[in-house]
Amino acid sequence: GGVLRPVLGDQLTRGLASLRDLDAARDTVLMAEVMAECTYVPHHPRKIVLVLAAMRQFAAALAAEGVRVRYVTLDDPDNTGTLTGEVSRAAAALAPARVVATEPGEWRVQEAMQGWGEAAGCPVDIRADTRFIAARDDFARWAHGRKTLRMELFYRQMRRRTGLLMTADGAPEGGRWNLDAENRKPPPPGARAFPLPPSFPPDETTRAVMDLVAARFGTHFGDMAGFDLPVTAAQAETALERFIAARLPRFGDLQDAMVDDAPYLFHAVLSPALNIGLLDPLDVCRRAEAAWHAGAAPLNAVEGFIRQILGWREYVRGLYWHKMPGYRDTNALDARRPLPAFFWTGETPMRCLAQAIGQTRRLAYAHHIQRLMVIGNFALLAGLDPTAVNAWYMVVYADAFEWVELPNTHGMALFADGGVVASKPYAASAKYIQRMSTYCDGCRYDPGRRSGPGACPYNVLYWTFLERHRDRFARNPRMAMIYRTLDRLDPAERVAMAEQAAAFLDGLDRDAWPAAPGGQ
Ligand code: FAD
Ligand code: SF4
Repeated sequence: GGVLRPVLGDQLTRGLASLRDLDAARDTVLMAEVMAECTYVPHHPRKIVLVLAAMRQFAAALAAEGVRVRYVTLDDPDNTGTLTGEVSRAAAALAPARVVATEPGEWRVQEAMQGWGEAAGCPVDIRADTRFIAARDDFARWAHGRKTLRMELFYRQMRRRTGLLMTADGAPEGGRWNLDAENRKPPPPGARAFPLPPSFPPDETTRAVMDLVAARFGTHFGDMAGFDLPVTAAQAETALERFIAARLPRFGDLQDAMVDDAPYLFHAVLSPALNIGLLDPLDVCRRAEAAWHAGAAPLNAVEGFIRQILGWREYVRGLYWHKMPGYRDTNALDARRPLPAFFWTGETPMRCLAQAIGQTRRLAYAHHIQRLMVIGNFALLAGLDPTAVNAWYMVVYADAFEWVELPNTHGMALFADGGVVASKPYAASAKYIQRMSTYCDGCRYDPGRRSGPGACPYNVLYWTFLERHRDRFARNPRMAMIYRTLDRLDPAERVAMAEQAAAFLDGLDRDAWPAAPGGQ
């Protein structure tokens, strides 16, 4: 026969490398909902619904084009439960001349793919994933011989290569590469209403998936009610258009702000669609650039947005493949503490965490600063075990795929890679959260107190974190000023903070709940 073309749940792109030369008369596309992928961590039900519903929609669109699709549902009695098992079963049924696949996003799946030749009994051709703007080799070439692998330099090269926001004579538009200095505004007083991303209520296909997910994965962390993410390329296109028209113009100003009960602010909420293939990253960047050329959005917003995709997203993907498999096993700050129970319940008097984790539970979404400066910062300061924290982030976000999640969590938030991603730890006291959010109003704790009754745990933990890691960080020029401040604190207060931190951390340990609900 023809060619067997397996398509994974995050490869839902018609222009996928392995579908390029699809011959509808002879080939078969294989898509399989397998238990192993649904449960290697007990994902948030919203994320499972997203992937399975989008897979079914994609298969239906291919079939409507006249493509033969072998689609294996999760509840098919013959389903072997693994991708390799399904490749083997399909090959036995169809006797293909060869298998053509696109390289996967995750190390775990790549390892499985290496066994597909044997499973299928025919040659397997694995193609590079051309949806990324930088190929894995491009990153490796860029990284070769460099002492540090900072995103900012990688990003400049990507700007030059694509010409995005570049003048005809090769300079960055606006004269600067990075306009972040304009993107750190605190929330404007009284602002509570923001234009919401469009909602895509579930159709019959999605509703069937929701029933399946409720029956099989109902014990997992997170709510499914109100699921309304885009699950087709057309819906994702609508979401992109609406973002560019209604939220991109103000994306920059409030990129780092956090407001009570406003989970999205001016963020794109496009990562789930991007990561499963419903949107093309380069196209998204070009569309944002066009909005700037048309005068519909200011440069600080458009540059900031493009940097997240052309810079950060491509950078973390390159770094992941450059550093795996060893990357996830480092623990540079020797952090060992198990996860406290409130990571799974959201119940804590620390309002910032209750808000960020509460919305994560409801929506499988939090924006970057909530992930980094509220939840990640807490995990860093409290010395939570990176393996447990990485697993938590993989479980709870609809956009979590290891290639993007791991460098962000392990590297950027936890500094567990010893400073590959970040030149200094993203550690901050309550002062940062107070300035950038509305959370501290009405919190039981006082963000202005470093010790004593009511002192915010972020403060107590922050100063003791710096003390604990003095040998590593005191000589870092970007941290010298912080250490000078620490050294000027009253010695009695330093002792009080150390004691208070120890008591607080003891309390966390007594209330630990490291395993994810519904995990096996
Ligand atoms: P916007 O703020 O509107 O940004 C636009 C787009 O830029 C996003 O859709 C995303 O594709 C991209 N982007 C922005 N920041 C990053 C980044 N740091 N790395 C890679 N791409 C980025 N993103 C994921 O897609 N999956 C994850 O599992 C994930 N885990 C994270 C864990 C931690 C601890 C941190 C600090 C960040 C994580 N991020 C992750 C990055 C970022 O927080 C999300 O991409 C973003 O919040 C998605 O929401 P949005 O579409 O509204 O983003
Ligand atoms: Fe969070 Fe502290 Fe502010 Fe409370 S006071 S919301 S715990 S930063």
